[in-house]
Amino acid sequence: MKAIEIICKKNLKEKLSYDEIKYMVNNYVKNKISDHTMSEFLWAIYYNGLSMDETYYLTDVMIKSGEVIDLSSLNKKVVDKHSTGGVGDKITLIVSPIVASSGICVPKMSGRSLGLTGGTVDKLESITGYKLKISKKDFLNELDKVGCAVISQSESIAVADKKIYALRDEIGAVDSIPLIASSIMSKKIASGSDIIVIDLKVGKGAFMKNIKDATKLAKTMVNIGKYYNKKVICTLSDMNTPLGRNIGNSLEVKEAIDFFDKKYDKRLYELVVYISSLMISAAKGISQRKAKSLVINLIESGHAKNKFREWIRYQGGDLSKLKDKCKKYIVVSPINGYVNAIDSLSIAKLVYDLGAGRHKKTDNIDYAVGVTLNKTIGEKVIKGDILGVIYYNKKLENMEQKFIDSYRIDRKKRNVKKIIIKTIK
Ligand code: URA
Repeated sequence: MKAIEIICKKNLKEKLSYDEIKYMVNNYVKNKISDHTMSEFLWAIYYNGLSMDETYYLTDVMIKSGEVIDLSSLNKKVVDKHSTGGVGDKITLIVSPIVASSGICVPKMSGRSLGLTGGTVDKLESITGYKLKISKKDFLNELDKVGCAVISQSESIAVADKKIYALRDEIGAVDSIPLIASSIMSKKIASGSDIIVIDLKVGKGAFMKNIKDATKLAKTMVNIGKYYNKKVICTLSDMNTPLGRNIGNSLEVKEAIDFFDKKYDKRLYELVVYISSLMISAAKGISQRKAKSLVINLIESGHAKNKFREWIRYQGGDLSKLKDKCKKYIVVSPINGYVNAIDSLSIAKLVYDLGAGRHKKTDNIDYAVGVTLNKTIGEKVIKGDILGVIYYNKKLENMEQKFIDSYRIDRKKRNVKKIIIKTIK
């Protein structure tokens, strides 16, 4: 077999065999295929696509390039939840303990922020003492005793994906549906859960900008699950507006604490209840309506809050000691009207510039900085009302104006877009 022949075949839109895809991926991992040749291969896929079978072959080869976790010793239903990443997305911190408090196991391996997208690992690292690297034995023990555990993504899972994803990022070949689907699913399937619920963000603050492409990606991921007898459920949720009221690492942990103290943002609550219900309904084999009333009960009764605190304590975290030392700048509304939009992309850029995000994987970040949206979409504002707060350590030029410019305030109130767009099973 020759790499050049495989690349030419894809450029002619011909179907590749399992062995051809395996040849490219495995030899790239072994450094027998150069970055340059692999880039040509990725571009051929980027422009010509992959059939469903080819997408499965790529996923399978990437799964087999690393460790596959066996969770069968847990003897409980296991459900994983994945988010494709958004602005203010603290859902994992809230959903994992809710679902675990219903008796289901939620094992999570999460990533760090990169570019404008936040990462659960950074949010958890803003809690003093929280250990993100624990042994596999401790991970399984925690899942058995507590029911949920969130650790950083294991280096040994889907090894090929790590190398290929880094190259895709470098050459600008990220937004290809078969490449994204195989990348996400290789990690999820290797992580061992039988049921995988994916929150696929769509809109300005997400890498999927429109519903059509997001639907195609969702269907591809659901279909990959079928090859492995895994139940994959994919919800498309709106990411034109930031999720919740806080964006920034320790600020988002505070919002999770507030959530369990029953101070919730309406859209955040809606998505949390929906995703938790999907996970519980699939794992327990009950209707989504029944699962929803169970979820509301777990929140209202305080069971989910106790589970949240138990989980963080178990991993060494002290919720009374967040890394949140910074200064505050209050922004007031310059006009009267209704908040008809908050641009999640410009909020993400502001928070990134304040120091909450990283450009390279090795960059340090500031856990304390970020913004609070005191006024959110659909709400009335009067000139002089507090629109929000900027938490900073290094003052940015025009930060107040950038914050105000992220808001669209009109005299007339417009309909607020629903947060849940659709679900594909
Ligand atoms: N997240 C992933 O894990 N892979 C992609 O390709 C895109 C987003």
